Amino acid sequence: MSDYVARLTFANGKTLELVGPADITKETTEAIVNAANSSLLGGGGVDGAIHRAGGPSILADCRRIVAKIGTLPAGKAVITTGGRLAAEHVVHTVGPIYRGGKQREAETLASCYRESIRVADDHAIHSLAFPSISTGAYGYPIHEAAAIAIKAVIDSLPDTNHVQLVRLVLFDIADCKMYERAAEKLSRELPENSVTFENAS
Ligand code: ADP
Repeated sequence: MSDYVARLTFANGKTLELVGPADITKETTEAIVNAANSSLLGGGGVDGAIHRAGGPSILADCRRIVAKIGTLPAGKAVITTGGRLAAEHVVHTVGPIYRGGKQREAETLASCYRESIRVADDHAIHSLAFPSISTGAYGYPIHEAAAIAIKAVIDSLPDTNHVQLVRLVLFDIADCKMYERAAEKLSRELPENSVTFENAS
């Protein structure tokens, strides 16, 4: 696989993969995650790309959700169809806007990953791909966001009944390097024999 960056394989067989540079709208995992905003009505960045590639049925589902629950708070996640995407579903989560780091941004960002994995697992999804949430328009420093994202996935995976593979899809080379470094560091902090870290370089 040309865009493979690194992989963590856990003793229970579950896997966390980092891939990139890559476009998440092309992902073939059963679900992809959208870095949405609270309105769920679309936006720029990865959100715009997902709605453009997936077509209007995603927005129609989002409107139904908003009619029922109102806007989606940061740190929560909901699921819709994937429309025309290869992925059958889109999990929409709202990252925190970074305001200096003292407004519980780290907890909210970790919650995005945990909640998205929980929602996917509740829908019997086996594989799920995330973009780097909050590190675009929402301004989260990537080196901090990478460690939070990877730790949240590592913490969530043991509890899933269905999700076996989580893929983090990084848009550019600098993001790949940052996530790879964070993954290697965190894997060294886990108990011996609980995880295997491999990288492509
Ligand atoms: P946020 O508002 O949560 O910061 P953005 O969409 O602005 O979300 O950016 C989140 C991350 O997604 C950024 O690192 C950006 O480079 C990346 N990104 C943008 N488009 C894509 C895409 N098509 N596939 C994967 N990642 C993308």
